[in-house]
Amino acid sequence: MTAPTLPGLAPAAPTPVAPRPGSRAARMALPRSVDVLKEIAAEYGVCVRPLAMRRTDLDTGLTEVIDLPCGATREDKCAPCAKKNRRLRQAQIREGWHRDDEPLPGPEPATEAQKSLILFRAHLEFSRDEAVRAAQWDQVTDLDEAIREVEEAIAAEGLRGRVGPPHASVDEDQDDEPGRRRKRSTRRRQDAPELPRRKVERRTVGKTYTALDGSTFRPSMWLTLTLDSYGPVRPDGTPLNPDRYDYRRAAWDAVHFPRLLDRFWQNLRRCEGWNVQYAGCVEPQRRLAPHAHFAIRGTIPRDVLRTVAAATYHQVWWPAVNVQRYTLDRLPVWDDQAAAWIDPDTREPLTTWTEALDAIDDDPDAEPVHVVRFGAQVDARGVMPGTEDAERTIRYVTKYITKHTGDVHKATTERQRKHLDRLWQQLQLTPCTERCANWLLYGVQPKKAHAKLKPGRCKGKVHQRDTLGIGGRRILISRDWSGKTLADHKHDVRAWVRALLGATTDSATAGQLVDDQGATAERIRHAWELARPDDPDVGPLAHRLMRSISERARWRSELLAAKDRAAQGSTDLSATQHSAQHDGEGTQ
Ligand SMILES: [Zn+2]
Ligand SMILES: [Zn+2]
Repeated sequence: MTAPTLPGLAPAAPTPVAPRPGSRAARMALPRSVDVLKEIAAEYGVCVRPLAMRRTDLDTGLTEVIDLPCGATREDKCAPCAKKNRRLRQAQIREGWHRDDEPLPGPEPATEAQKSLILFRAHLEFSRDEAVRAAQWDQVTDLDEAIREVEEAIAAEGLRGRVGPPHASVDEDQDDEPGRRRKRSTRRRQDAPELPRRKVERRTVGKTYTALDGSTFRPSMWLTLTLDSYGPVRPDGTPLNPDRYDYRRAAWDAVHFPRLLDRFWQNLRRCEGWNVQYAGCVEPQRRLAPHAHFAIRGTIPRDVLRTVAAATYHQVWWPAVNVQRYTLDRLPVWDDQAAAWIDPDTREPLTTWTEALDAIDDDPDAEPVHVVRFGAQVDARGVMPGTEDAERTIRYVTKYITKHTGDVHKATTERQRKHLDRLWQQLQLTPCTERCANWLLYGVQPKKAHAKLKPGRCKGKVHQRDTLGIGGRRILISRDWSGKTLADHKHDVRAWVRALLGATTDSATAGQLVDDQGATAERIRHAWELARPDDPDVGPLAHRLMRSISERARWRSELLAAKDRAAQGSTDLSATQHSAQHDGEGTQ
């Protein structure tokens, strides 16, 4: 960035001189008290962007403004909240990783009422199918309405999840015939190895090993999956030869990486025959391609992991994109009469989404427009429960979750900035979904095309510079990991703190404070509403921060005292208590 300096024009080295007392420079050298306030707030884990909520006591009519933490997950929004979220994630990963019992008991058997509702739903499905075949669309609409009602009743009857995926509604999908399913080649690719397919047991817990001395241990694993190479790179992540680096494939791989990971877990479970559980993260590598780290419960032979990774692929059956027919300065135009996008010169309508997919279906030699695969680098190692190695690994998984994807590896050199720019340019032109405006560039109208599409300006997250094409969730935790949601873990921490304070102190203030944060027991007694920052009873932010910090400081010293007393009572803290204790600090 720095321009070369002409000889003789280099600025003289600054001589450090203390600013004159009372001068502007001297004043500017003093820290601003409001910054110190925010710093202390962060130190005490007090949210710096609290949400003011007005709580009205329904019995007395008394109102009170209470600050709720903003709950941000990114450090640049609110560091204390982001850190708190990271601690909860760490607790979640710790709790699920090495557990030796199944996280959830099996479901209870269905009642007769539940069974008859499902049977009724099945009859409706049959009738709907008949109506679709007879093209009786008004009946289909009626049946859809009935299906919706029955499904509501099914949910009310205490059944979990949907009985089946919803039907595309009749008028919603004008360009797709309702009820029609596309046939895609499900033939295994010849270039991918065959995998064994076993029935997947419900078991989610790994194998226990017995040592010669009779002690048992249950190791778990740590796995890293990467994407393929797009060309050789330097240690700073930039390509040796930018012209030969395959940015197009890099962009498409990044956009479809989540699907590839899904496939990997499906394949691994089928191959291993049990319901393997994982918790992990998707992060950018220095070369800006995503990779994924996972804690896996139980052990799986390394060569199985490698074989499954090599055999896993995801095919994208979308229209071809090898010819970009339009550019951002010469785009198709919307024609109101035709209700379609047309060529600006010939005035011919562009291929519709349905036509484009039909063409793929009708072509026996059609190839997917893109195939995503993992790279050759698959790292896996065993991790023993309760070791420093396990703790270090958990910290590693959650290391970057408080940062934007684009801030994980900040581009600091011109070469790195250019690399990022080239990738971003490609991501801006890559279609993100079936409805992406970018399809118009390739002469295809996206699914459900409308007049407002702006190619190159699609709002999809993957097109944004700081996502690097990683648009979806970055923390991936399988359903039966700890058997708890993040909210459950949050509740555990509060319950632990409450129990500790309640059991060992009778201080009314402590009880009051904890209660404000939990606010579950008294939910019915109070009405909550969002207070506006300019409401007269909402004080200035600085005042509210100071009050919160003071409360927190008092609360923290009470908690420490309570912990000391508890530790004197019993020296043996169980593992859960230990982790909760760890997380309880700085938790509101
Ligand atoms: Zn916050
Ligand atoms: Zn898009």
